[in-house]
Amino acid sequence: MSFSDLGLSDALVRAVTEAGYTSPTPIQAQAIPAVLGGGDLLAGAQTGTGKTAGFTLPMLQRLSTDAGGLKLSNKTAARPIRALVLTPTRELAAQVEESVRVYGKYTHLNSAVIFGGVGINPQIKALRHGVDILVATPGRLLDHIGQKTVDVSKIEILVLDEADRMLDMGFIHDIRKVLAVLPPKRQNLLFSATFSDEIKALADRLLDHPATIEV
Ligand code: AMP
Repeated sequence: MSFSDLGLSDALVRAVTEAGYTSPTPIQAQAIPAVLGGGDLLAGAQTGTGKTAGFTLPMLQRLSTDAGGLKLSNKTAARPIRALVLTPTRELAAQVEESVRVYGKYTHLNSAVIFGGVGINPQIKALRHGVDILVATPGRLLDHIGQKTVDVSKIEILVLDEADRMLDMGFIHDIRKVLAVLPPKRQNLLFSATFSDEIKALADRLLDHPATIEV
């Protein structure tokens, strides 16, 4: 099985080949076609399984094949953020955004990362350049939403990465506040290593007839 067998475009296959990957991991083999299909996804996956590429690659493909009806030439700074990835920690946020850059290097999509514990002004500046994919920790994202330096009203794809850790860290209220300002029609992907009742409740509330994957 190869990455192109999964339906990924040449631009993405080229980037993963350059990253040194020869074949998809089990989570990638299942998640990539599911996400490309456009539906919601509930995935049980530990870190180290290749889950980041499992959601990043099909997300990049959906955005570059124009899921939202935007022209690819619309590279103006004023264009809306189209995908949002929430992570529990700044380290994971930085890592995921780096993956988006690596896998997306032959697409025209731009990404940015925002997290707490550092100055907000450089983040505001970066956001002004026009961002298609935003990776964020929940608290700092809410700060930006409150200051109107981030507009999430046009999000087409939402990813909750390591959702169990986000709940363990007490982010459920922040997540709820973010969900309340997202547009209702979107694709939702939830990744979690464990499935407590709290995660199941979040998944029930967030996901619409999701494909489920457990590796
Ligand atoms: P993750 O579980 O997303 O944190 O990824 C774990 C590690 O596996 C990362 O260092 C990736 O670069 C690497 N990786 C992801 N997908 C593949 C693949 N298909 N083949 C080889 N390595 C991979």
